[in-house]
Amino acid sequence: MLTSIVGTNWGDEGKGRMVDLLSENYDVVVRYQGGNNAGHTVINEKGKFVMNLMPSGILRDETVNVLGPGIVIDLEHLSGEAARLREGGIEIGPRHLKISDRATVCLPYHKLLDGLEEDRLGDKKFGSTRRGISPVYADKYMKKTIRMGDLLHWDSLRDRLAGIIEWKNLTVEKGYGHEPVSLDEIMAWLETFGRPFAPYVCNTTEYLGSAIREGKSILFEAQLGALRDIDFGIYPYTSASTTLAAYAPIGAGIPYARLDESIGIMKAYSSCVGEGPFICELFGDEAEELRKAGGEYGAATGRPRRVGGFDVVASRYGTLMQGCSYIALTKLDVLSYLKEIPVCTAYELDGRKTGYFPSDIDELNAARPVYEYLPGFHCDISDCRRPEDLPRAAMDYIRYIEKAINCPIRYVSVGPERDAYITLF
Ligand code: GDP
Repeated sequence: MLTSIVGTNWGDEGKGRMVDLLSENYDVVVRYQGGNNAGHTVINEKGKFVMNLMPSGILRDETVNVLGPGIVIDLEHLSGEAARLREGGIEIGPRHLKISDRATVCLPYHKLLDGLEEDRLGDKKFGSTRRGISPVYADKYMKKTIRMGDLLHWDSLRDRLAGIIEWKNLTVEKGYGHEPVSLDEIMAWLETFGRPFAPYVCNTTEYLGSAIREGKSILFEAQLGALRDIDFGIYPYTSASTTLAAYAPIGAGIPYARLDESIGIMKAYSSCVGEGPFICELFGDEAEELRKAGGEYGAATGRPRRVGGFDVVASRYGTLMQGCSYIALTKLDVLSYLKEIPVCTAYELDGRKTGYFPSDIDELNAARPVYEYLPGFHCDISDCRRPEDLPRAAMDYIRYIEKAINCPIRYVSVGPERDAYITLF
């Protein structure tokens, strides 16, 4: 079974929690795009873990975790994450974690450039996480950065980096007027944070190929959501990578593989980190109450998230782009406090109502939400474990969403704990 687990919206849909739950059924979990610019929070019997780079299957001893060719790895960050997980009693060895020799290394100057550019932009900033993700993907496509496999060829690494850094300093020093990047410092950084991972680096394409031949089940874990996809999202307020399920086989290193299913993770309301169009956004007390109820503060950055009601237009679009087989709806319990649930049912654009998600940034900026209010369930549902435990209004809300997005909902999550969910079919 090859399954992708993806976000249908702006990210932070609760993917980590669902992967932690579903990974039990899979032998291998693979991260296939992005870097440490988003976070998963997982709470289980071992404790609470925030993971930015590690696949969520790392919390299960028997699962093999793979960082695929499509991702970018800040080695210093990965070291820190591994150390925190080990402190929490999680074992991490080359048997549990395999890193693709084709994965791209995010170097300290990528982070530096991300920050320099955000500072240069001032008020016009993109809201980058300043973790170097766009600069390193840009260098990947310029073919001017190093890959994890280079750590296995230490002798040629210095020469390769010397040429790249000479080129990079044209931007750092001459462009931004910052002091130049030092080759010695980068080599020392790689020695400290890269060398310890050398035993984990391998040809994961071969490993996954044999896993498929042996009939193992593989879960492809995405970061962020459909609306952050570089091509199909709210460009330029997107991530630098492809967040869609269709990219999973490529980013994982097995481009010939076909997915059996794509599970869309969708939140019962909306949230968005950073700048850019967020049409269903709520403001004032209504927003503050929802933000507090949902604990909507970034896992990677701690930034308060922008929040809104469920967005039918964006969610239907995201579901389609992700080719979802079915949905896991998360955080339904958060809406318990509401007597009426706000839902953005359409957009208004140029005086007309539309159900289509715009592709153009000017249209995205101009669109206004059309809000309707559905009956709330107004009671605690966090102990519900079977469909029949849910109050009628909660089930009606679930059925409303299914119809609106044209996709069945299979799981409903009613709390952050591993067992706090309901299976509908
Ligand atoms: P991800 O990047 O998509 O995994 O999203 P986040 O890391 O932002 O995770 C969402 C947050 O909500 C985490 O703190 C989870 O523990 C929590 N969470 C996930 N599902 C639920 C749920 O159904 N109810 C509640 N109350 N919290 C949840």
